[in-house]
Amino acid sequence: MNKPIGTLEELRSAASEHQLHTIEVAVPDTQGHLRGKRVPVDRFLDSVHRSGVNVADAMFVFDMQNDLPDNEFVNMETGYLDTHIVPDLTTGRILTHRPGYGLVFGDAMDEHGKPHPLAPRNVLASQIARCRAQGLDPLVATELEFFLCRPDWTPVQSHIQYSSLTDGMEFETVLADMRAALLGAGMEVEGSNAEYGSGQFEINTGPADAMTAADNTVLFKSILKQVAMQHGYRATFMPKPWADNAGSGMHVHTSLQGADGNVFAYCEDGEPNDTMRRWAAGMLHHAGALTFLGAPTSNGPKRIRPYTFAPTHVTWGLDNRTVLARCVVESGSAANRVEYRSAGADANPYLVIAGLLAAGMDGLDQQRDPGAMSVGDVYGTPGDAEALPTDLASAIAAYSGSDLAAALGDTFSRSYVSIAEAEVALAAEHNPDRDDVNDWERERFIEHC
Ligand code: GLU
Ligand code: MG
Repeated sequence: MNKPIGTLEELRSAASEHQLHTIEVAVPDTQGHLRGKRVPVDRFLDSVHRSGVNVADAMFVFDMQNDLPDNEFVNMETGYLDTHIVPDLTTGRILTHRPGYGLVFGDAMDEHGKPHPLAPRNVLASQIARCRAQGLDPLVATELEFFLCRPDWTPVQSHIQYSSLTDGMEFETVLADMRAALLGAGMEVEGSNAEYGSGQFEINTGPADAMTAADNTVLFKSILKQVAMQHGYRATFMPKPWADNAGSGMHVHTSLQGADGNVFAYCEDGEPNDTMRRWAAGMLHHAGALTFLGAPTSNGPKRIRPYTFAPTHVTWGLDNRTVLARCVVESGSAANRVEYRSAGADANPYLVIAGLLAAGMDGLDQQRDPGAMSVGDVYGTPGDAEALPTDLASAIAAYSGSDLAAALGDTFSRSYVSIAEAEVALAAEHNPDRDDVNDWERERFIEHC
């Protein structure tokens, strides 16, 4: 199975095999953007693998444009401290699309040598530890959609040919290089297809432990942007770049591995077993707060609209693309899982996965019941299902002060909410329309999402 390089010795031999000259020490910031330092390979292998590197903690309070909205934890008074990045030597990658480069993820420490409370990787680590303390190891896969664009950010196609193997062949060289680069970087590539949006594509990667899945996701986005650029194109994960075209989602599949394998199973009546039902019920219970983690800017909630294949209500079901929590369950299958369909492709995967694990574990602890499953067109007949927030201010209101916010850490949650509140203020000034996506919004998000 294709996976990250797991030890320093393996990295040493991979460095010589692939003739690496540089290791990127990478730390995902609050927007899900990879930052860090490029270090000569010998220096990394001799000392930096132990000593680490330093990066300014401002990266945890940046907005998408690297502006610094007011923050109570990191500001001019605190002096924008260095955060110490300790390489995680189980995460080595070879960046085959840029020969000579490797990458290692790092963990951010605060000035006391403790995990930095604002670092998304640390927020996720705490939730994984919570699952493992109960003997359950989460297995996660993310599924991202993106638009391939020309350098002026117009989509490469103006028609839709979903999953066509004939249409759009002129883009297959780009997509083939993307798949190869993902494989080279230690990801399982399942396949790629044209999506149901003009110029929209999807590449699917296989499941991994929760931290590796989140690492894979931020690296996936970085690699796809770079490969698109190598071909003279651009890739964007902006969740709703144009009001009249599809949105791009990040569907997140979760299951739990116990001592005897996947604890999610199929029952005689064709329904998921109690563990799987409770896990999904936790997601439904916290769905409002989770919406904020999945749509943390003014643009993301614009994707949550009827008949877009993005869910609009707090619902669950079996194989139904209109529900929020889709339970994929088959007799005798090891791949039974819950697919959470609400997050946008711009969402920070560490935070969304952390939120889903916290919500799911709460569902198990409280033995929550998801209620009746939805069948058929949930957009047309949502029944008495609660509607998800459809603008950023409502999503923030659902998260702020919630149990989920407390579970992810008070310091982190207050900081994250304050970054989003600044987005609400900016959107009120530059694009108050709750549906339209204007040039200001595209300029703000299309390149870095
Ligand atoms: N593009 C849809 C979304 O924004 C999802 C389409 C699909 O089912 O893959 O979530
Ligand atoms: Mg899709």
